[in-house]
Amino acid sequence: MAATTHTVTNQAPPLVEYDVFTADRALSEGVERHVAPELAGEVREELSWLGRTAGSARVQEWGVQANENPPKLRTHDRYGRRIDEVEFHPAWHRLLDEAVAARLTDAWGRPGGHVRRAAGFLVWTQAEAGHGCPLSMTHAAVPALRTDPELAAEWEPRLTSHVYEEGLREPSLKAGALFGMGMTEKQGGSDVRANTTSAQPLAGEGEYLLTGHKWFCSAPMCDGFLVLAQAPGGLSCFLVPRVLSDGTRNVFRIQRLKDKLGNRSNASSEVEFDGTWARLVGEEGRGVRTIIEMVAATRLDCVVGSAALMRQSVVQAAHHAAYRSAFGSKLIDKPLMRNVLADLALESEAATTLALRLAAGGTTATPSRTGPSCGSRCPPPSTG
Ligand SMILES: Cc1cc2nc3c(=O)[nH]c(=O)nc-3n(C[C@H](O)[C@H](O)[C@H](O)COP(=O)(O)OP(=O)(O)OC[C@H]3O[C@@H](n4cnc5c(N)ncnc54)[C@H](O)[C@@H]3O)c2cc1C
Repeated sequence: MAATTHTVTNQAPPLVEYDVFTADRALSEGVERHVAPELAGEVREELSWLGRTAGSARVQEWGVQANENPPKLRTHDRYGRRIDEVEFHPAWHRLLDEAVAARLTDAWGRPGGHVRRAAGFLVWTQAEAGHGCPLSMTHAAVPALRTDPELAAEWEPRLTSHVYEEGLREPSLKAGALFGMGMTEKQGGSDVRANTTSAQPLAGEGEYLLTGHKWFCSAPMCDGFLVLAQAPGGLSCFLVPRVLSDGTRNVFRIQRLKDKLGNRSNASSEVEFDGTWARLVGEEGRGVRTIIEMVAATRLDCVVGSAALMRQSVVQAAHHAAYRSAFGSKLIDKPLMRNVLADLALESEAATTLALRLAAGGTTATPSRTGPSCGSRCPPPSTG
């Protein structure tokens, strides 16, 4: 039925159906600068495709849905059995599906991999930012896992796969897997050396049982986690799978989800380990040295993700100012408004340029296994 009370005027149309990548000069020129000339055409095409997808009305709507319908914790099934699962809106899964297919978890070993992935992450975050957390952690787990060739051989193909498979299943049956990380405890966030979660060795080589907790564990629906715990030889890094190789569930008690101000589409949880099976990654006592490889790669995404949010804010602001009129003319034509928008654009372009520069030069895929052991003298990583 037609509205009878008033006609809506002077409102901007929805900002959809545009190419998030190509519309961004700082980003597209930065990519040209950092990829080899023979790759430039292919990379431009790949990112422009992702840009059109990210800017489409369909995908923008997924972003809204994933945030309006935040994840729900299901500790038990209806019959009282413990399941420790998180239920997400279908839009969340669609976003992850597109992102994994677009190779946002596959940078290591791919020509120009870190630049094209960072640019893709910058584009795709503008569709929805929260699901970037498991994407980032999955991508980042690879260099830490490579400290153990056996574990890398088992997990890397799943982490870098282009197939997203939601739901917990026996790892060998999944074509793709996601990873998270657990460092922060109640008594120590940045200072992970204060961790009290303990790791008791089992008879099997590299096998341990963990007892303790993590105060922050984001994306707890992931298939596996790199976790810090105190082994007899000191703070060590462990791989904790949600499902064991025989198909049974590992002990991974999700106590509750954080009620967050931002990042609401993503679940961040508090978890407890109670005889939780874990496999050592790297050497005992060198947990910080091992997990820092993962932490460092996620920190790059903190830069890229922040640059993406800045860019999206500028684009939304400029779009609004281009359509909205006040006092007889468009906002975008007012000198003071232009000053504000130009300032925002400048900072956004600087952030984008820095992010690409870091992605081009700042990551190493294979950490040295023979470097000096710093043990408890290692500087603590900034986690999360
Ligand atoms: C949305 C979200 C998701 C997260 N997900 C995860 C996750 O998946 N896994 C995980 O392990 N953690 C996660 N975290 C935890 C996060 O990494 C921690 O909050 C972070 O490490 C800081 O720890 P803290 O909050 O205990 O602060 P503290 O370490 O207690 O620090 C408090 C304040 O002191 C400052 N500070 C600390 N040390 C120094 C110093 N040496 N010099 C000067 N200032 C200092 C800090 O910057 C901070 O402002 C998440 C956090 C958030 C908010």
